[in-house]
Amino acid sequence: MTIQWFPGHMAKARREVTEQLKLVDIVFELIDARLPLSSRNPMIDEVLGQKPRLLILNKMDLADDRETAKWIRYFESKEIHAVAINSFEGKGLTAVTKAAKEILAPKIERMKRRGIRPGAIRAMIVGIPNVGKSTLINRLAKKNIAKTGNKPGVTKAQQWIKFGKELELLDTPGILWPKFEDQSVGYKLALTGAIKDTIVNMENLAVYGLRFLEQHYPERLTERYHISTVGEDIAAVFDKVGENRKVYAAGGEIDYEKVAELIVQDIRNELLGKLTFDFVSELEEQADAMMD
Ligand code: GDP
Repeated sequence: MTIQWFPGHMAKARREVTEQLKLVDIVFELIDARLPLSSRNPMIDEVLGQKPRLLILNKMDLADDRETAKWIRYFESKEIHAVAINSFEGKGLTAVTKAAKEILAPKIERMKRRGIRPGAIRAMIVGIPNVGKSTLINRLAKKNIAKTGNKPGVTKAQQWIKFGKELELLDTPGILWPKFEDQSVGYKLALTGAIKDTIVNMENLAVYGLRFLEQHYPERLTERYHISTVGEDIAAVFDKVGENRKVYAAGGEIDYEKVAELIVQDIRNELLGKLTFDFVSELEEQADAMMD
């Protein structure tokens, strides 16, 4: 799905999410476990306001497990409840219900004390494109779809997906825009396949990917491409990968465009292993620098 985010579309997306928020008790903010910062909408805190929230790090199967654990601890330290899941295979879904119940426990208690019987928890998913919103909804929908008719004040018939007895999920997710202001965020989103190839220059993207791997996962570069450093001579690295993988143009020379594509595809297809692109340690360094 390609969405062009112009100011008018952003305003509309925000309005729609704000409307949907009125229908739910809690928001599931879905992000990519490989990009716990870069895959968040920049205005999410403002959009969600005081609404209870569970942060869901999806695609945990593609992310570096150690870094995912650090991110969960980091978010919890900021009093944001967070769980990691793999909605493709349906792993971790019960943790979602459990966490939602914990987050809403004070509210449920208050209702009980006032003699109100709490119904199922109503939730909606919010996230930038391609984080796996539909995959998660479809996973949950396999269990049960409950149609509810028109209710006063609700213009469209809302469909709720029941997950067990305790959770109902709005079947239309809220789609918000990604961050644009930072070029490295754009590259990270492109390397994970979240944004379309046509928006970014493939060669620049591959170079970014190689430099990123050199800095954070150097052993993977050696394993896959038999290079120990990327260094200054990036053309030499492309030559080496091109020769190894026999990526030649018609004239017999290395086809750099194809080499770039190959590197990007390797990263996306997990041929360089499970990767995380945003690090808690970098965030802490930035915070320290601001305090200095
Ligand atoms: P949406 O735009 O947020 O609704 O994203 P989709 O549900 O369309 O998912 C985008 C892509 O990510 C699809 O190719 C999914 O198969 C894939 N995907 C979603 N969840 C997971 C996951 O947990 N693990 C992996 N490996 N892929 C996932």
